Amino acid sequence: MGEIENVIIVGSGPAAYTAALYSSRANLNPLVIEGEFNPQHHQDLPGGQLMVTTDVENYPGFPEGITGPDLMDHFRKQAERFGTRIETAWIDRVDFSERPFSLYAGEKVWKAKAIILATGAGANWLGIDSETELRKTGTVSACATCDGALPHFRNRHLAVVGGGDSAVEEATFLTKFASKVTLVHRRDKLRASKIMQERALNHDKINIEWNSQVVEVLDVAHKKVTGLKLQDTVQGGERVLDCDGLFLAIGHTPNTSFLKDQINLDDAGYVVVDRGTYTNIEGVFAAGDCVDHTYRQAITAAGMGCMAAIDTERWLEAQE
Ligand code: NAP
Repeated sequence: MGEIENVIIVGSGPAAYTAALYSSRANLNPLVIEGEFNPQHHQDLPGGQLMVTTDVENYPGFPEGITGPDLMDHFRKQAERFGTRIETAWIDRVDFSERPFSLYAGEKVWKAKAIILATGAGANWLGIDSETELRKTGTVSACATCDGALPHFRNRHLAVVGGGDSAVEEATFLTKFASKVTLVHRRDKLRASKIMQERALNHDKINIEWNSQVVEVLDVAHKKVTGLKLQDTVQGGERVLDCDGLFLAIGHTPNTSFLKDQINLDDAGYVVVDRGTYTNIEGVFAAGDCVDHTYRQAITAAGMGCMAAIDTERWLEAQE
């Protein structure tokens, strides 16, 4: 058997690096395993969702705001300063049935006395065939901040689906490049916070299609987005909205499929925690967006990462 780590932290967002910072300062010599970049799934980007955010204006301590990637860079450097080691691998399987726990990436295995799960969440898709097909062409995306500035979106009419903060933020961001942005929402009220709503509602480049659900992305035959077939969610009729690109902003799903049958997950796939960051498996802790579907903020994820490190340190101490 190879080396047994004290604690392995899986993930690379605010929860993971804060857990790493605290556990390295507690002399636990933590190992962080960050996910590999997969261009098909922006959620797989090391650094978590902040890597696909532009300006973060609500992370305390940065009165002028900071970009998501810069903030993650600070998190990572601060954890490394105290000795955190970082490896890049995509964990696809775990064995929590005995201690030390095992984590696998293909044939490779890591063993640890304790685990902190901080794998975050990834973007949801509508799941209709035309969307899946057109994602391959690069004219359908779930990340405006990653793809919005691409040449084929510039000076075009772009559609954003969703009614939450992400949708409104992405629509507003896209106005920098697009000639026009249409927000397509399935209800007649936005879920986004008032301040974000006002930015979108008062923006002269943003229109909103209310009570509208995308039933088909046009046009697979043309190998690019040319429009959306929208169904009226109240009246039931269908109409076509001409546009040149589609951005999805309809929420996220926790990155926990590799944990199935190993740990308690709720119906939506979030890790269930109790007493702070304790999961149902003693010695396995969880923090951040893979646990939290309510607050989902960088600051709350970081706070939970800190809690997970403290819980882990105390638990390991009690074992010895
Ligand atoms: P969200 O708040 O869950 O909103 C998802 C939106 O997508 C909702 O409007 C929902 O419609 C719609 N939706 C879901 N499934 C759909 C489907 N199949 N077809 C069409 N529409 C669908 O997600 P979010 O906007 O990603 O925000 C998540 C969290 O992050 C929130 O707590 C938010 O405040 C936070 N956030 C904050 C900021 C910021 O402060 N800068 C930026 C982004 C996100 P319904 O409204 O009808 O349910």
